[in-house]
Amino acid sequence: MHNYKFFIFGCIFTSLTWSISLFMYWKLNSKHIDLYSQKQILYPRSTYDYTNKQELKYLKSHIRLEELGVIKTDNDIYIRDKGYKDHGFNALISLRLGDYREHLPDTRHKLCSYLKYDQNLPEASIIICFYNEHPQALFRTIQSVIRRTPYNLLHEVILIDDYSDHNNLHETVNSYIVSQNLQNIIHLKKTNKREGLIRARLFGAKLATSQILIFLDSHVEVNIDWIQPLLTRVRDNRTQIIAPIIDIIQPDTFDYKSSPLVRGGFNWGLHFKWDSLPKGSLITDEDFIKPIKTPTIAGGLFAVDREYFSEIGEYDPGMNIWGGENLELSFRVWMCGGSLFIEPCSRVGHVFRKHRPYSAPNNEDTMARNSLRLAHVWLDDFKKFFISKRLDLINIKYGDITERKELRKKLGCKNFEWYLENVYPEILLPTDNIENVNKKLKIVDRPAFQPWNKRIRNYTAKFLINLSNSKLCVHPLNGYQTKNSKLVLRPCIQNMEQIWYKTDKEELVLAKLLCLDSSSGKPVISKCNEIGSTQRWKYSDNTETALYNLAAGTCLSVNIKKVNAEIVMDICTNESSLNKWNLIEIF
Ligand code: UDP
Ligand code: MN
Repeated sequence: MHNYKFFIFGCIFTSLTWSISLFMYWKLNSKHIDLYSQKQILYPRSTYDYTNKQELKYLKSHIRLEELGVIKTDNDIYIRDKGYKDHGFNALISLRLGDYREHLPDTRHKLCSYLKYDQNLPEASIIICFYNEHPQALFRTIQSVIRRTPYNLLHEVILIDDYSDHNNLHETVNSYIVSQNLQNIIHLKKTNKREGLIRARLFGAKLATSQILIFLDSHVEVNIDWIQPLLTRVRDNRTQIIAPIIDIIQPDTFDYKSSPLVRGGFNWGLHFKWDSLPKGSLITDEDFIKPIKTPTIAGGLFAVDREYFSEIGEYDPGMNIWGGENLELSFRVWMCGGSLFIEPCSRVGHVFRKHRPYSAPNNEDTMARNSLRLAHVWLDDFKKFFISKRLDLINIKYGDITERKELRKKLGCKNFEWYLENVYPEILLPTDNIENVNKKLKIVDRPAFQPWNKRIRNYTAKFLINLSNSKLCVHPLNGYQTKNSKLVLRPCIQNMEQIWYKTDKEELVLAKLLCLDSSSGKPVISKCNEIGSTQRWKYSDNTETALYNLAAGTCLSVNIKKVNAEIVMDICTNESSLNKWNLIEIF
């Protein structure tokens, strides 16, 4: 009897221990979710990786997965081309990428990943305004912020719809937020009229409640540990405005590429430009993770202390739609006691579009208006350099600037000469003599990055491009030296007109001169440029390969197999023999 009692007791004890262990195990494993649910939100896995499994299979079996731009139907062409028009990028790829990209390359210097950040950094309010943005591009911006920001650092995301008029965009965004259960962290608001990015950001900033504001564009993807370096620096010095390095998301392919360490400058047309760093800035490994003092910031991506932003005069609300606000903020911050830095360990990818897809009401040249405003408030005598460069602006109205001038007085700001001498001493003045010019040129290092420099091309193979089952090859209609020459089929012959050189950048260069290019819809030969992907071609080493263009999403084809038939771009189908080529190697 006694033993039996012990047995029962033992059983109960064992199952209790097990239950407790199981409970603890579950608790520990679900810690991630628990922490988030303190803010009563859930962070679901990506819901739109690929809705169409069949399509994914097709992509896998045909060409490597990186070619998300493959065109299969007329509707694909429609989506791609409407995207270029409405958004300045390949919307078919944006759509297929869905709302989250798990794997972005970690573009930081290797030392960044060893940095330990304080666990108790202040929280941030992220402000994103958008005007007619492509929904998936906006969703990726949101998801990347949600998933790559530690839960305790993200106070809220303020989304300002700047009176978009694309089909139901506001409703689409709102439903998305609800469907993802993000209502508690994302506040979506709409302006009462089109305000432009300057006033839309001001509207967002007014609603924000945490200590630090971070502004982002609506087509970015933040990268690993992007926020900690920004918050750390703003917390440590509230008068510093800190920008991340803006990595490049390529508009034709959405490739994510690292940007070099450069800083912001400007020219006398009051256009922002990238400059190389001062001599000796990048020598040791540590130099690559130090904040970079910058005379100006590029624009929409930066972190600032909320109260400091207000003290320093936010943005000029008299500026319209787009342009100049980054220089105005930059001059003001430096001249009125603050400073600007770029944090190399914080990386945010931004889609650099092929063109700005919107205009301002009444087609106003808002860049001109806004530049005039800032010149008259901040440039003192130096505004003559701008004005003399832009005599065409002489009659442009730029509105009342009294309040901004008063702000400058109230803040007791230094003058523009001080700014140039102390913050941007290497800027060339139109009045500089040759001695001055030489002195200034010595301040900067040999540029670390010069895309405009001529690259030495690496050729890896050379061949004729022969249409399969024929004796015909790709041949320039107007000769191999003629830019924009169309291409046709001609009997194969081993001469300059038909020998294509493959490069390590996936180009096909005819006679080492001009690149095969799909940018004008039809394939042509044009100046090799390495911009975009209209000159990048994929193919296999097999015979009968397709020649796939990354930007177009289509393949090199002909409509008919005969001499002088025009070469075109067409859907890459497996069935057709009119888009299969043999690359006949020449040694
Ligand atoms: N934007 C806006 N209203 C406008 C123009 C732009 O809200 O009238 C938004 C736009 O959607 C983007 C941000 O402001 O999120 C910055 O604009 P954009 O990306 O066009 O500038 P860029 O990067 O080309 O300099
Ligand atoms: Mn942008």
